[in-house]
Amino acid sequence: CLVYLNGDFLPLGEAKVSVLDRGFLFGDGVYEVIPVYGGRPFRLDEHLRRLDNSLRGIRMTNPLPDARWADIFGRLIAGVHDQYLYLQVTRGFAPKRDHAIPAEVNPTVFVMCSPIAPIPVSGVRAVTLDDIRWQWCHIKAITLLANVLLRQEAVDRGAAEAILVRDGWVTEGAASNVFAVIDGVLTTPPKSSDLLPGITRDLVLELALENGVPAVEQRIRVDDLKSAAEIWLTSSTREILPVIELDGVRVGTAEPGPLWSRMQAIYQAYKERLRSA
Ligand code: PMP
Repeated sequence: CLVYLNGDFLPLGEAKVSVLDRGFLFGDGVYEVIPVYGGRPFRLDEHLRRLDNSLRGIRMTNPLPDARWADIFGRLIAGVHDQYLYLQVTRGFAPKRDHAIPAEVNPTVFVMCSPIAPIPVSGVRAVTLDDIRWQWCHIKAITLLANVLLRQEAVDRGAAEAILVRDGWVTEGAASNVFAVIDGVLTTPPKSSDLLPGITRDLVLELALENGVPAVEQRIRVDDLKSAAEIWLTSSTREILPVIELDGVRVGTAEPGPLWSRMQAIYQAYKERLRSA
């Protein structure tokens, strides 16, 4: 499978970036992960809008028009129906290592494909951890050290995800958004700089509205999460994942809940419709 790097399509092993790239030295860049189903990028416009917003958030402009992105994606995904696209835009190469942004710098643009991994739909364990990240979590920055350490802490404790808590309020997962079923209502924290505006999160809310599932965007106290009937994690790579154990305590009946089963069916039907459209 070929990758795209700064205008060229080439084998992964031949794609090389300078060690002076600001992405490497400072984590100075942003990224997107876009699922491809049936050979079509899923929720493409939404991902490209978020890319624009992330770039603007770090004082960059989108290096390519939407049509060019779509063209690159089309060439990379040819022949494989279901996979992910990973794209990364860094500030680019600068001859001198200096925190301040150089006046003249050209972005590094990289895109690759990766295979879809099976999703553990029978449910996963999660742990709550203190949200130690910076305060601009709405930007999909490649600077993921805190997320890496938090996810590893979760893995060390036998869990699949860390659910992050800031001042007693749930923000999101280390690489996912969080939903909880509280008093029969599907609840997720409202968008703010504390969390990434997940494309899957927005789709779940949209599908809930369309299908008469009661849902609200409302802050969740960690104590309310701990007594929630159901907890889900959402992301482009894991879709809607039920959490069956939180901090060693079972969630509901320790099985994927009834509302999850309903939303999972709705979500899969939506994917199928797009696949065959
Ligand atoms: N929050 C964080 C911190 C993430 O890294 C991700 C996925 N990369 C998400 C939420 C979920 O976003 P999406 O549904 O767009 O994949």
